[in-house]
Amino acid sequence: MRALLFVFLIPALAAVFTSAQEHLTSPANNLDWMKASMVKLDQELTAKYGEAQHERIKRGLHQVMIYWRVQDGDAAAFEDFVRANFAGDQATLDKTFGRFEVLLEQLDGHLHEISRSFRDQADLDRGPLLPLDRIFAGYDPSAHVLDDFFENKLAFVVLLNFPLTTLDKRLREGPRWTRRQWAEARLAERFSKRIPADVNLAIAQAAADGEQYIAQYNIWMHHLVDDKGQRLFPAKLRLLSHWNLRDEIKADYADKQNGLAKQRTIQQVMERIVTQTIPQSVVDNPGVDWNPFSNEVKPAAVQDSDTPAPTDQRISNAPEPATRYKMLLGTFLAAKKADPYSPTAPTLIARRFDEDREIPEKRVEEMLVQVLSSPLVSKVAQLIQTRLGRPLEPFDIWYDGFLPRAKYSPAELDAIVSKRYPTAEAYQKDIPNILVKLGFSPEKAKYVADNIIVDPARGSGHAMGAEMRSEKAHLRTRVEASGMNYKGFNIAVHEMGHNVEQTFSLNEIDHTLLAGVPNSAFTEALAMLLQGHDLEVLGLSSPDETSEAYRTLNDFWATYEISAVSLVDMAVWHWMYDHPDAAPAQLRDATVQIAKDTWNRYCAPVFGKKDVVLLGIYSHMIDYFLYLPDYPIGHMIGFQIEEQMRKAGKVGDEFERMAKEGSVTPDMWMINATGKPVGAEALLDAAERSLAKVQGK
Ligand SMILES: [Zn+2]
Repeated sequence: MRALLFVFLIPALAAVFTSAQEHLTSPANNLDWMKASMVKLDQELTAKYGEAQHERIKRGLHQVMIYWRVQDGDAAAFEDFVRANFAGDQATLDKTFGRFEVLLEQLDGHLHEISRSFRDQADLDRGPLLPLDRIFAGYDPSAHVLDDFFENKLAFVVLLNFPLTTLDKRLREGPRWTRRQWAEARLAERFSKRIPADVNLAIAQAAADGEQYIAQYNIWMHHLVDDKGQRLFPAKLRLLSHWNLRDEIKADYADKQNGLAKQRTIQQVMERIVTQTIPQSVVDNPGVDWNPFSNEVKPAAVQDSDTPAPTDQRISNAPEPATRYKMLLGTFLAAKKADPYSPTAPTLIARRFDEDREIPEKRVEEMLVQVLSSPLVSKVAQLIQTRLGRPLEPFDIWYDGFLPRAKYSPAELDAIVSKRYPTAEAYQKDIPNILVKLGFSPEKAKYVADNIIVDPARGSGHAMGAEMRSEKAHLRTRVEASGMNYKGFNIAVHEMGHNVEQTFSLNEIDHTLLAGVPNSAFTEALAMLLQGHDLEVLGLSSPDETSEAYRTLNDFWATYEISAVSLVDMAVWHWMYDHPDAAPAQLRDATVQIAKDTWNRYCAPVFGKKDVVLLGIYSHMIDYFLYLPDYPIGHMIGFQIEEQMRKAGKVGDEFERMAKEGSVTPDMWMINATGKPVGAEALLDAAERSLAKVQGK
């Protein structure tokens, strides 16, 4: 579990471009002297370095032209720069490449080292924070690096010598590239955008506004009343939309008496949030009682909050004025400002799919639809219905009753763990041993363990890679005064999984420009793989085959749900691009319609009810810039990796082999790892096997 959002807000991560797309222009390159200078240099450099270099010369000139602005200099400056920095022979090109590879590793590694140190007081269990610690923690020393590199022209050296590529080109030709060609492509991508600071600021501001709106969107559950004035939920319970509301629906399956009534009430609340018929006055307000069915609002008849209701409180059921969609529109309008500076991926949709995910949108859509329209959906739905003993209702899209009951009690597990790991150092010392139990050879286990430093975390824990080979990865884990508890251990094994991946994919890779994994779903899948075996590390028996089968069905159902939600997210972004001048109320109506249409197509046949709007409830839709499709893709990747481990048997060797592939495209990585591109088959196969298993076939 890492903060993944930031990845998408850094504009320099990836890029798309081909020299064939000569018509592409940037907003600042209409310099009247540029064309003549390019023609002159083309002839001059070709004469100097030979016809064999002509294609590279043309490409380099074009790539520099795209990003060159008035402030970078006049014709003479441009020409001098190109003459001095074009690497016209292989030896110079090799040296140029090598310099960038070594020095960018130093830059990334040391900047990361600084920000890690600056965050230590905030991240680690080291006592109270001073106000200044928060400022240090919020400071990003890499924030201006890209601007600096354009200003001092190092970015132009890269653009002059190494190829920008489109996703299409990487997918078509990438499998035949050498590793060096891949490293060159990744190097050029770092400099494929030159987004002005004020645009980045506007994007960050819109994200922060949306985040704040979401963070305060609480529902006071004790104040939900039915027609008879009854309160189903306990006093003080305050649930954040949508995460807590959804998790309460899941927890309510265990409440035999009131569970169903509670779940129906929450569904009603969620629908009112999506349609914005929710009274403005009930949001995060314990001063009123609300009947979400009749939509009646009254002064609260009970008090369960320390803050008394304001005396001038106006009791009204006036609806929230489409604020939810105003926030979403805000993120869209901000993201759109970057479009002209991203000539090769000129929409946020393109940047998400072609650059961040590197899987074309059309293929992602096909993968989602493959899950949504699988015949397994109605079979699993039938099984859920049988287990519930009633027809499905729309909120059952969050059914989680497949999860097996824990074999060991929390107290039992806590006792075992705290005895074994009383301190963070005790865990650190045991890492080689843990890794051997997880399937790594003693030699590799020691090597990886030597590259991990364990720190006691203030929060629940996280993993931080090294970013340069002279540094070590950090594992942050929570240790109570009474020793580590089971939850802390479970998270520590997950975070350690990230550290193992980070160590292999940085220290053992052939090119540091290819360090890492294709995207966050891959590192999460590898971390979860190790986390799933944590009981074995403690010497306890792992879940039996039937429990595993139920767990798979749980994952399948969750993937079905989040695939539908993702299609809504994608369609809404397309709608916004098609209607850039829309008002919030229009976006509200469009989103409601998209949610209904998606439901009617993929869920209504299973749930027997039409026009449900629940698929529009996710908070990520409002402030996460088209992030949701990462979840279903992550599930699919997880099953592919797990399936390969099952086949190969040797977890340690396979883990290392996979991690050393580095950040090529997801499909190339997956073909190398499993023989097949990223897709839904492994998940669907596992679900089918599991269904047969639990039905005794
Ligand atoms: Zn994680």
